[in-house]
Amino acid sequence: MATVAIIGGGISGLSCAYYLKTLGHRKIRYMFLLEKNMKFGGWIQTTRFPDGAVFEHGPRTIRVGSKAGYNTIALAEELNLASRVLPVTKNHSLAKTNYILANNELYPLPRDFKSMLAKTPPFPKTFLLYGLKELWTKKSEIDDESVYSFVDRRVGKEIADFVSDPLCRGIAAGDARELSVRSMFPSLYEGEQQHGSFIKSLLKSRHDQPMFEYMYSDLVKKSCSEMWRSWTFKTGLSEIIDALACTIEERGGDILFNAECSKLTFKDNKALLEVENEKIEVDHVFSCIPADQLSKLLHQYSSLAETLMSISSVDVAVVYFEFENNVLKKNGFGFLSPSFEDSKVLGVVFDSCLFPELNGKSKTRLTCMMGGRWFRDILGDPETVSEELILSIALKEVQKHLGISQLPVRHKVIIQRNCIPQYVVGHYKKLIAIDNDIKKHDLCLTVLGASYEGAGVPDCIYTSKLGVQKYLETLQ
Ligand SMILES: Cc1cc2nc3c(=O)[nH]c(=O)nc-3n(C[C@H](O)[C@H](O)[C@H](O)COP(=O)(O)OP(=O)(O)OC[C@H]3O[C@@H](n4cnc5c(N)ncnc54)[C@H](O)[C@@H]3O)c2cc1C
Repeated sequence: MATVAIIGGGISGLSCAYYLKTLGHRKIRYMFLLEKNMKFGGWIQTTRFPDGAVFEHGPRTIRVGSKAGYNTIALAEELNLASRVLPVTKNHSLAKTNYILANNELYPLPRDFKSMLAKTPPFPKTFLLYGLKELWTKKSEIDDESVYSFVDRRVGKEIADFVSDPLCRGIAAGDARELSVRSMFPSLYEGEQQHGSFIKSLLKSRHDQPMFEYMYSDLVKKSCSEMWRSWTFKTGLSEIIDALACTIEERGGDILFNAECSKLTFKDNKALLEVENEKIEVDHVFSCIPADQLSKLLHQYSSLAETLMSISSVDVAVVYFEFENNVLKKNGFGFLSPSFEDSKVLGVVFDSCLFPELNGKSKTRLTCMMGGRWFRDILGDPETVSEELILSIALKEVQKHLGISQLPVRHKVIIQRNCIPQYVVGHYKKLIAIDNDIKKHDLCLTVLGASYEGAGVPDCIYTSKLGVQKYLETLQ
């Protein structure tokens, strides 16, 4: 029976601990988790105001539609949270539409086949014509390229400009010209490699049914029959953090706050963790902290530390507004702004359309995402920039793009430092180098978390599950 340590109490670390306790209870003698802060959750933090309004500091929705997505729904059910789930269904009348900012106007993106047959600004052609170009474009032999160049090459410049550019800003707060298509959108890359076209691959995979292995879960079945697009919980995403921490403790796992791991060494198939002048020896370590932070714990493995350090992250300013009345002229999920548009926001989420149940007394809730790859250019030094400056820029942006003239009745500004990892072109080679270094030095270490194979909450949970399964297979 093994002893294991988990470093980091974000969603990756907590789900790693949960799966070790559920899948590995016969093989794990003792397991503990170290979190350096006074609370768990990492980027998942929810503020609940007394009137019931909810502000998410980090993620606000969990997407469905992939294996990782269905696994997360099944996990919610396992944690007895099925009755707590708040879904956005396909027919959700308020949150159906995503908008793109073009020439200072908001345009809806086509959302069904019918709207793909019509020419809609800012696109000079119908989506059907772009689709035909993709089907006819020959496969490339490039091992990786930027999201922008992939979409430009296969679909066309307008889609690269008005879809892939803002999408990368919305998902990763990053630049589509720098981010890797292979690592950010593996299904597009693999679609081209395996079928010569990602549309062909998408059509073929419609029959694959990623939810199939999760059909034991009533909640997964419900999500399919009701056609969920995304979801949260009735008082916000941190419900899953509380439920995970509670379940891990109930099952005998030790979870420690205010416990920072400051050094990690390995000897004779054991790992030695230094935590506040104490040294703790274990058989295996799961690192669930950002790659650059792990790099600082691993000084003596210079090549591994260097590769880990090269996976950098960007800063994001999150600005939350509440307006007393319904001030939105358009309903929808929100809007994204391409990098070349005259806008200082990456995008704005219409929280009150997505989850009106979380509104409290006010009728409109919005969250502006700002900065990311462009933080210093637009907002200045993240160390010294004032919240007042960020607030005033964000307010001017929502006034300009959404035509809002009322003043907010509540606001909050949060600067999230180094919060979203950037999978730049060649990211996959870094993952191979990390894996090779761990094997070369025979380290009893598994690296998990948002820095490697997907930063979305479902990806973090799913990669933790796979990492735990792989480790348990090595135990007798
Ligand atoms: C603004 C924002 C919006 C987002 N929106 C969405 C969304 O809508 N949907 C979605 O799916 N995803 C979204 N994401 C992404 C997602 O939230 C994150 O990728 C995910 O939460 C990362 O979880 P993690 O556990 O891997 O890392 P983290 O959340 O970074 O957790 C790591 C934990 O380790 C601790 N730690 C670090 N070093 C040490 C140490 N030496 N010793 C002990 N503990 C340590 C930290 O304190 C932290 O608690 C968003 C992220 C941000 C920032």
